[in-house]
Amino acid sequence: MAMAPREDVLIIGGGIGGLTLALMLHQRGIPCRVFEAAPELKPLGVGINLLPHAMKELAALGLEPQLARLGVLTAEAAFFNRFGQLIYKEPLGRAAGYDWPQISIHRADLHRTLWEAAAAALGGERLHLGWQCLGAEAGGTARFRRSDIGETLPPQRGRAVIGADGIHSTLRKQLYPDEGEPIYSGVNMWRGVTRWEPILGGATMIRCGWFTHAKIVIYPIQNHIDAAGRQLVNWVVEIETPKYERWNWARPGRLEDFIGPMQDWHFDWLDVPEFLRRAEVALEYPMVDKDPLPRWSFGRLTLLGDAAHPMYPRGSNGAGQAIVDARALADCLAAAGEPEAALAAYEAQRLEATAKVVRTNRTTPPDWILGEVHKRTGDKPFVSIDDVISRQELVAITDAYKRVAGYDREKLGR
Ligand SMILES: Cc1cc2nc3c(=O)[nH]c(=O)nc-3n(C[C@H](O)[C@H](O)[C@H](O)COP(=O)(O)OP(=O)(O)OC[C@H]3O[C@@H](n4cnc5c(N)ncnc54)[C@H](O)[C@@H]3O)c2cc1C
Repeated sequence: MAMAPREDVLIIGGGIGGLTLALMLHQRGIPCRVFEAAPELKPLGVGINLLPHAMKELAALGLEPQLARLGVLTAEAAFFNRFGQLIYKEPLGRAAGYDWPQISIHRADLHRTLWEAAAAALGGERLHLGWQCLGAEAGGTARFRRSDIGETLPPQRGRAVIGADGIHSTLRKQLYPDEGEPIYSGVNMWRGVTRWEPILGGATMIRCGWFTHAKIVIYPIQNHIDAAGRQLVNWVVEIETPKYERWNWARPGRLEDFIGPMQDWHFDWLDVPEFLRRAEVALEYPMVDKDPLPRWSFGRLTLLGDAAHPMYPRGSNGAGQAIVDARALADCLAAAGEPEAALAAYEAQRLEATAKVVRTNRTTPPDWILGEVHKRTGDKPFVSIDDVISRQELVAITDAYKRVAGYDREKLGR
């Protein structure tokens, strides 16, 4: 390829946000190209959640049936203390009255679905693999090299350049060279998948324990993976510790580094140590984020998704906020004649909204319920949860988060 036509929007990064944006721009008749650094598509990552606000947007792209087939329609959230006692349960997705489901899915299945849909809609020649962006100018020009052999590729000039290049974003580093590395939360994570029989009915997202000892999040991401009707079940162990390795989505994790605090978690709903011992993949990743930025848009250049607002996964909102960003940006580009005005309007809609999610994920996301109960019980088993925390308080915690993250049922509408 020589130069992309000037009217093309250049999307840097073919991850979840970049591909969603490509599909949305195409739907609005705006030509675009995606430049992805990875030389080939690999099935990377483990589980990811698509909450109703994200599914509303993906359904508008016609992707709901396929995602529902590949993933699991999660119908319930359940919170337990580290003694396996139930604190709170609430319905999710359609079971909670939304017009869209919550889908828990392998990131590789979501990514492949978006990539194939974008290739079919835009034409595969508009999705460029192995193009690593080195930087971009506010005038709309981006520079590249081949990610495998380092050879310089021709610069591309487009209507706008969108940095959807994830938590390690080159474009964010260019705009904020002094920002430094992502900020460690003090909690390290180990993520993986285990083939297991359905737990609590097979459609429940479980959160159990608290960071100071150990917390585990468990949810299924594939149904009927064998004749015994087992599921592929995603898990994330989160433990407070000053020790962590640099973030890398593919770093292998070692069972002995995290199973210790859960050795005696033999609950009637799950034998946690046995479940973890039978894991087929374990990855280690520190819980990190970055402080919200004062500005994303500079002329014809802006940021989107993790490049703009990396956040803790405590609210299951990383993918969702990237998808909502894509919708806002596609609408702004369709509405405004000048790309500069569109990018400024997009920033005005999304910067503060996502900054609130970043901040709330640090303080009071849904799992704050577990922290409150841990504090009020002095990390001891309770006799009755009603003596510890009222149902109204529990509902108020999760409802407040839904409003911040943009999936309050009344507001989300149809
Ligand atoms: C390999 C991988 C595995 C992941 N696994 C999980 C997981 O298991 N669970 C989970 O919740 N989240 C995971 N994530 C993160 C999750 O996808 C994002 O938090 C979220 O979906 C927001 O999407 P995004 O498009 O902003 O970023 P991402 O989905 O991270 O996409 C960013 C894309 O930009 C590309 N890129 C980076 N730098 C350049 C460059 N200079 N030039 C061109 N392209 C570039 C990357 O290769 C990547 O494809 C993973 C991300 C990656 C890249």
